[in-house]
Amino acid sequence: SVEFRGAVKQYGEHRVLNGINLTINAGEVVAILGPSGSGKSTLIRLINQLEPLTDGDILIDNRPTRGLKGRVLRELRSRVGFVFQQFNLYAHLTALQNITLALEYVHGWKTDAAKVRALELLEQVGLSDKADHQPAQLSGGQQQRVAIARALASSPQIILFDEPTSALDPEMIGEVLSVMKSLAHSGITMIVVTHEMQFAREIADRVVFIDGGDVLEIAAPADFFSRPQHPRAQRFLQKVL
Ligand code: ATP
Ligand code: MG
Repeated sequence: SVEFRGAVKQYGEHRVLNGINLTINAGEVVAILGPSGSGKSTLIRLINQLEPLTDGDILIDNRPTRGLKGRVLRELRSRVGFVFQQFNLYAHLTALQNITLALEYVHGWKTDAAKVRALELLEQVGLSDKADHQPAQLSGGQQQRVAIARALASSPQIILFDEPTSALDPEMIGEVLSVMKSLAHSGITMIVVTHEMQFAREIADRVVFIDGGDVLEIAAPADFFSRPQHPRAQRFLQKVL
């Protein structure tokens, strides 16, 4: 589980998250929705400490994470996968090497074992035949699927997605969403910042709507999309649907 307890994030004087209280249960799929600049990326970047918290705490499986450093922080990160909008693959490495790199150098796996694991993961995302391709030889959708495979390499219990399809051409969005969909049924905890309302509606267990650094509404997708309660959620949905 991931539990935000009064989580505050400030950049200098600018308060971006105003004391978030939110619990995401193990195995749950949660879609984070909200307007641009509302704090969605910041919210999920705090979870594996890509950004440090200003105040409050975030508990992962009931363990406080604020201020963790060194080995303990690395251990936390290995339990939390992250998929970025811009894939962030290493351009000079193959798909396979992009996955084995972290296993070998961060998690200390032997080369052969890392390779077996990477091939399994490439198969899971439908890219067995692309193991030796570099990112430039792959489509955007394929690159994002490699990035998902990489995020799964250390068998995290939690995976975070920050607008994973926003940088893709429309015809590639489906293949990435379909990989995410099968992942959603695997029991992993998924926290997904997305503009794909259809995905949120079909796949999420709950929707979290944030605006201005506050969680304004938490609801089942069926309720959120048919009868949003908060006026700002109503306005947001009028714009995006
Ligand atoms: P989008 O939908 O456009 O991705 P978002 O909801 O993900 O928006 P965030 O990226 O979390 O929004 O940003 C929330 C606020 O924090 C914005 O006002 C942004 O300008 C500010 N912000 C984000 N990162 C930084 C930073 N490194 N330094 C200063 N301010 C930042
Ligand atoms: Mg963002």
